[in-house]
Amino acid sequence: MSPEVITKKNKKKFAEEPIFTEKKQYRGEGVKETGLAFVGHEISEDGNAMNQFLHYDQLYTIRHGKNSRFFKGLLEGKIFGTQCPKCGDTWVPVRTHCWNLDCNLQKTEWIEMPLTAKVHTWTIAGWSGRSSLKRLPIVLVYAVIGESKVAIANELHNIDPWDVEFGMNLKIVFKPKDERIGAVTDFHFEPEDDWKPSPMNKEKKRIKELVGPVYEWVKTLK
Ligand SMILES: [Zn+2]
Repeated sequence: MSPEVITKKNKKKFAEEPIFTEKKQYRGEGVKETGLAFVGHEISEDGNAMNQFLHYDQLYTIRHGKNSRFFKGLLEGKIFGTQCPKCGDTWVPVRTHCWNLDCNLQKTEWIEMPLTAKVHTWTIAGWSGRSSLKRLPIVLVYAVIGESKVAIANELHNIDPWDVEFGMNLKIVFKPKDERIGAVTDFHFEPEDDWKPSPMNKEKKRIKELVGPVYEWVKTLK
């Protein structure tokens, strides 16, 4: 028997090619794709230092595929997770197949998650990219939404950085509908409504002292 030749036509696909009837053109006036370009340089007065300017931009397309419902849900102000019909485990960020070995990569089903979470772990960012410098210091949490088996990262607002605690209850807060773009930045976490910080202690005081200079520095930003 001769081996089967795999061509583009007989190649097995997991899914049919989606049809997009509403083609959108996002390369608008504000988007200039220049690719990778050396755009110039400057040399210091003493001639000892040179800055070379490299510009890199490109319009990327990210197809979310089987995970699309999660991102569509964000536009509606909802968090969708996936659940294994065999063992009942749920996940946000979503998994399309169950990872429990006994479930043999069972396909998962969509489930709407509650807009509540718990802090799994966190860090305090004292430095960031240009776009979020003015929000420093930023509390970044890995939080468990509902009964999810995995945690998702996002910002925690409305709290002093030294007051964050493991396991504290959070709520999910979405941006106004017209500001959502279908990305994880459409929401952030906040402490649950009746939350109160625990009394000051040595560790909290230490963090407060570390964070203090960041607050002072941010005030100097225009
Ligand atoms: Zn399972």
